[in-house]
Amino acid sequence: MRAAAFVVLTCATILGVSGWREWAARDAVLKGAETEMANVARSLTQHAEDSLDLLDSGVVGVVSRLEMDGTDPATIAKLRTLLEARKKAMERVHSLAIIDDQGNWLTSPGTISSTLSDDAFFRHHQLSPKREPYVGRPVKSLLDGEWVVTLSRRFNKPDGSFGGVVLAAISSKYLSHFYEQFEIGRNSSVALMYADGLIIARNPGNDKFVGRSVADTPMFRDANLQKSAGAYHFKSPLDGAERVSFFKRSSRYPLVLLATVDRAELLAPWRAAAISRMLYVLALVMLIGVIGAVLVRQLQRGQRMAAALVEKEAHFRLLAEGSSDMVTRIGLDEKLRYVSPSSVRVVGWRANQLIGTPALAGIHAEDRPQVQAIVDALKRGEKDEARITYRNTHRTNTEVWLESTMRVTRQENGNVDGVVAISRDITEQKKLETRLETLAIEDSLTGLANRRRFDERLKEEWARAYRDRSSLALLMIDVDHFKAYNDEYGHPAGDACLRVVAKVIAAEMQRAGDLAARYGGEEFAMLLPNTDATGCARIGERIRRAIREASLVHSSNHASGRVTASLGGAVCRPALERSAGVGSLVEAADQALYAAKEGGRDRLMMSVEVASLLPKAVGE
Ligand code: GH3
Ligand code: MG
Ligand code: MG
Repeated sequence: MRAAAFVVLTCATILGVSGWREWAARDAVLKGAETEMANVARSLTQHAEDSLDLLDSGVVGVVSRLEMDGTDPATIAKLRTLLEARKKAMERVHSLAIIDDQGNWLTSPGTISSTLSDDAFFRHHQLSPKREPYVGRPVKSLLDGEWVVTLSRRFNKPDGSFGGVVLAAISSKYLSHFYEQFEIGRNSSVALMYADGLIIARNPGNDKFVGRSVADTPMFRDANLQKSAGAYHFKSPLDGAERVSFFKRSSRYPLVLLATVDRAELLAPWRAAAISRMLYVLALVMLIGVIGAVLVRQLQRGQRMAAALVEKEAHFRLLAEGSSDMVTRIGLDEKLRYVSPSSVRVVGWRANQLIGTPALAGIHAEDRPQVQAIVDALKRGEKDEARITYRNTHRTNTEVWLESTMRVTRQENGNVDGVVAISRDITEQKKLETRLETLAIEDSLTGLANRRRFDERLKEEWARAYRDRSSLALLMIDVDHFKAYNDEYGHPAGDACLRVVAKVIAAEMQRAGDLAARYGGEEFAMLLPNTDATGCARIGERIRRAIREASLVHSSNHASGRVTASLGGAVCRPALERSAGVGSLVEAADQALYAAKEGGRDRLMMSVEVASLLPKAVGE
């Protein structure tokens, strides 16, 4: 919004300043025209005054002659010649005449018989004793019908009474010709008016306008225009054109001069230039507007994108930071770029303590190569996703199991730029798993391997012995008269007894591969890989003796009065003997055990002895 406002303001300012400048230029044109018109008006007013002065000097001369010499016909005749000569000498003098006290022409060519006794100038002089010149309103000359302005003075008879009038006239035509010389524009005009608004002379169109009155125009009516000179803008009542003008009132005669110029014509060059300049400015403003709009649009899009990004980021943070899983982002340098706050819960370190540190630093030394290999593969882009379980050192120096799902992140061009890992503490799960595993293979009463574990190991060891061409030995151990033990001491005591026996048997496991298991009930088994018959017999004998020496009281076992066990041992070399497999070894040991029982219990029988049908107790 602010950017848009700025663009609009800029455009408005440019338009405003340009418009103002054009308006100022227009004002300057008008002011210049006013000045020009003022000069014209002043000089032409001066011209009109000079012309009347000139007329007056002639009239004054005639008046003084008439007052000195009287009006007898001889004087008049002389004066007439003088007047004719004067008139010829001065172009601007239209006529010079002497009129007697009755208003009759004394110096007319004789063709005019009318009397002037009713004319304004005559009556003025007749009634007023003043001797000043009088300039009358323009009239049509009685001589030739031309419009003239008259200047007259009274002359007195020797007794001081009214003797008549000396009259001089200047023609409108002369004045308008004179004004023609001023070239101030095609549609300009100059007009000389009588003080009451009657037009004396005008250029152009003198014939058309002379004698018309403009008395009802503001120039003659407005109080504030009744000063001696001033600029005057008006709509011409004569031709309807808007005009710029300047008027000047004569201080000595009842005359007003108005010089005008057509405003439209005056402003035409300015208007043309202003329009072309404004068009340029307008084009510029439009360009700025368009560019501004594009920029504003881009800005808006950027803002929208930024807002979307912020929202996305907020979502991401909500997910990453609200999750109990630890979310990390690993750069190509394998340093942590981002760590979510749940790191405290998972590895004990705060996010800011981890950011910037090597991502694989806390991983257990044994698991690190494996994790490293996966990270390398991800970084190379060989796979996009991987899941791995490993041990990690917690801040408290304990070990936690973590399961991480890793996923590569790519730049827009598809290049891998890092890895995002979501790690979860699975220590509890691992413990449970281990426990379940243990449960699956362990006998709960004695803690020895259970029957299932025994069967598995038997198969494995059989296969190994087969591969290695080694021998595999098996001892089956059965507690003697145990039913009776239970009967006598009770089942719980029986269980306790079995636990002791199991412990004794377990203590006899000497090699890593040896396995003691509870085969079922009060029957145990000992698997002895890589052991020959002699070794098997030796270990069997040791077990037998150890159980006996545990000295668990068993009164029903009449032979010794303590708990004893019978053992059957069997050995095979799977690769070298023909046999029915695993089952045959168990069977052989079982048979040997049976033989031991048969032989009187508390003894060990080896299956070879059974096989030779010479059962013989290996006893003390
Ligand atoms: P023999 O000398 O012939 O082996 O006689 P025996 O009584 O030991 O043989 P038998 O197989 O007849 O009896 C086994 C007895 O072992 C039956 C059962 O009461 C007892 N027994 C089996 N499993 C357990 C057990 O988990 N706990 C207890 N307390 N007794 C068991
Ligand atoms: Mg039994
Ligand atoms: Mg038994």
